[in-house]
Amino acid sequence: MPRVSEAWLRKILTVLYERRHSTRAEIVRATRLNVASVSQAIQRLLHQGVVQRSGQLRSAVGRRRDELKLNSEAGYFVAVDLEGTRVRFGLTNFLGDVRHRWEVPVAVGRKLDLHTLARGIEAVLGNLGPRERSRVVALGLSYTGIMDRQGRVTAWNLGWEDFPLREKIRGLVDLPVFHGTESLAKLSAERWLGAARGRSHCVFVTVANGIGCASMNEGHPLLGRDGAAGELGHTIIDPAAPDRCNCGRTGCLEAIASSPNIVRQYLEKTGQRRKPIFGEQVVEVFARVREGDAAALEVIDRAGRYLGLALANLANLLNPELIVLGGDLIHAEDLFLPRIRTELARHVLPKMQVSLEVQMSALGMDIGLVGAASLAFHGALRDSALLKKICSAHPEEVRAA
Ligand SMILES: [Zn+2]
Repeated sequence: MPRVSEAWLRKILTVLYERRHSTRAEIVRATRLNVASVSQAIQRLLHQGVVQRSGQLRSAVGRRRDELKLNSEAGYFVAVDLEGTRVRFGLTNFLGDVRHRWEVPVAVGRKLDLHTLARGIEAVLGNLGPRERSRVVALGLSYTGIMDRQGRVTAWNLGWEDFPLREKIRGLVDLPVFHGTESLAKLSAERWLGAARGRSHCVFVTVANGIGCASMNEGHPLLGRDGAAGELGHTIIDPAAPDRCNCGRTGCLEAIASSPNIVRQYLEKTGQRRKPIFGEQVVEVFARVREGDAAALEVIDRAGRYLGLALANLANLLNPELIVLGGDLIHAEDLFLPRIRTELARHVLPKMQVSLEVQMSALGMDIGLVGAASLAFHGALRDSALLKKICSAHPEEVRAA
């Protein structure tokens, strides 16, 4: 079989991952490789069982063209999503479809321990037989907070200060680990499968145990020096506000509008403050608003107004065409979208408002897992040894799966 360059394989696998189905001609156009290179690479990928024929299309002049797709069982990824009011673990197939999941709620500020991480990873891997397990390619991890260059994470919501996450995960599982911030992982998932498809200037804002955002300009993520850009929750939204934030300061958006802080304010107003607070209780507060509970309404009015103000500042600063809202907000589109739109109409410069759209994420609660799996897929393609592992799957074994 002729020699096939790694770069060709990377480009072709990326196109098939992002588009799901493609003809050879579409792959040639998207990769800008020449026809012969694409044909040789695809011949090899078909032979190895990594790519399959998914059907035939007939062109206008009656020529039949094969439609190609990735073999969904050519490899598996472990996905870990550490932001949210629950931490989530998933096992995805080669295409990033979540096959098995395990999750647990997070008590705010209580330290997320290594034992829980180990349990989650083992719970999803435990669904695989030995043969499938040998085809797990990598682990994708989306983390909250700030990771330093040594892989240590400081995340107040998880009770971590300089927690050596990268080292600990590598100690738990014998797999290569690829990671990114949870907001960026979610924004990538939105650009791949969701509301931000084909959009180059977009922002993803997540409201859960914390509040974070990720943004893309001309399709490139804005990362900052330490990859920590997007700490929207710790921007000061009201210097006079008494609410104390996990970061130790007052005036932060997160201290007012994050899920556990919405719960906290409601419990304080109704004289039933108790411990510990779980962010996922926020859906009960949403339900109370809909039932006409005045205290709940007051809390949501305040959180919605400050979120809207923060998003207006963000829009004036970054000039996005699309803001996608996710996290626990997806349970309360009816409560938050009108309040946020009112603030945007008041505070975003008119010229920028014309092209600004705000949408709720429609990818559901698995979005973090999908994003983490995509970090692992793209990371694995960049690694020569892993690319080799993916492309040398034994044909019979993969086809039998
Ligand atoms: Zn703060």
